[in-house]
Amino acid sequence: MIKEEIKRCLEKNVEMWQKETNSLPKISYDEDVCEWSDLFVGQPDTDGSIQWQYAPVDRILDFSDLEKRYHVELPVDLKDFYNAYFFLELRGFIDNECISFKPLDETVDVLDNLEFFLGGEEDEESETTNFIVLGLYAHKYWFGISKFGKGQVVALLEEGKEYVLAESLGKLFKKLKIGSPQLGWYSVLTSAEQKHDDSGSFIGGKPCIPATIPLPTCKICGDPLTFFFQVAFPKGHMWEGKSLALFFCDSTYYKHEAHDMLPPILLRDEDDLSDNDLDPDHYQTLFRVFFFDTRDGVLREDYQEKVRYQIIDWKEGRRRDKKVPIILAGEPVWMESHWRERPRSCGGNRMEFVLQVADYFNFEIYPNAPSEMEANYMALQGQPPFRPREENNYTLFCDFNRVFLWGTTDKQNPVFGINVQSDV
Ligand SMILES: [Zn+2]
Repeated sequence: MIKEEIKRCLEKNVEMWQKETNSLPKISYDEDVCEWSDLFVGQPDTDGSIQWQYAPVDRILDFSDLEKRYHVELPVDLKDFYNAYFFLELRGFIDNECISFKPLDETVDVLDNLEFFLGGEEDEESETTNFIVLGLYAHKYWFGISKFGKGQVVALLEEGKEYVLAESLGKLFKKLKIGSPQLGWYSVLTSAEQKHDDSGSFIGGKPCIPATIPLPTCKICGDPLTFFFQVAFPKGHMWEGKSLALFFCDSTYYKHEAHDMLPPILLRDEDDLSDNDLDPDHYQTLFRVFFFDTRDGVLREDYQEKVRYQIIDWKEGRRRDKKVPIILAGEPVWMESHWRERPRSCGGNRMEFVLQVADYFNFEIYPNAPSEMEANYMALQGQPPFRPREENNYTLFCDFNRVFLWGTTDKQNPVFGINVQSDV
């Protein structure tokens, strides 16, 4: 089973190279570093790279002796992996993050290496013990299988944190995407007057949502929610033809308790969120996300605009710039100091990154819009507990939070979850 998945990945890689360069896959070759492998094809190029091809293994390893000696049972997937194919490079993406396997060919002494790990020796390169290193995750963290685990594939992050990439090596290969990660889009904003039929992407003004959707109110304070922005998913996005509108309560500081100012926490250690966890009627308390066919949107004259209107143009490409106001799809830009809080699935449906809003990106308001109220630190000196913010804008989950929106990959009725990160 795992063999077929590995082959699929290796074959996909070959196809990609053939399409892009009309050659077999290449890796860089340095005779002082590389051992000569049977997988090389031809001689190194003038630029120091050499073609290679994968091949079924020409030996079958028997692990029973090792397992007996160290009283362990190695995961079946791992044993099958070593007995499947030889390759010099195997790279792909898990949830848009790169993982890269160590080369496996006839020069690698698998049993010897395993004995080393099983014996509890520290691996010099990875400085790990009892951990069977398979390669690199996100270009910097080792990933592999713990001797004591249940065959889960984990990445070792900073400070000894482990991040489970997959429940087994077989499942990892199933999820592994070969090829470039989805690049996504980034926003470019332009000030303009809002037009009567507005089926594009924009910040502020009046929402353009189906007439049947009642304008939402905050489930915490009961105030009408403020329309912040809407996105018409661009060509090439899985939701092309659909739009999403986001409303948020800008009375947060003023009328909410501290624990109600942020989105309800997503369960991040659970494998699967239940539909109930993200049921919008309960989960979306101080915000509301509407998802609809773009063509059903009508400009809602019954809404009094507060946030200043700006057109959003989507530029394709990865811009790993945390200051871009909105990044759509592709790969989120995480805070360096934070754990990657990525919900995996809900009700059995995979969840993907929908968009993020930059920290310190605030939403300018029209002069007649009420000011956002903030806590008044002079309150102890007899001043009122709240005062209008000096800046002429509204914040989304406070100005210092980076906001990540996730959704199930459902084309009709996706469910959404939000988490935030801050360096404050
Ligand atoms: Zn509210």
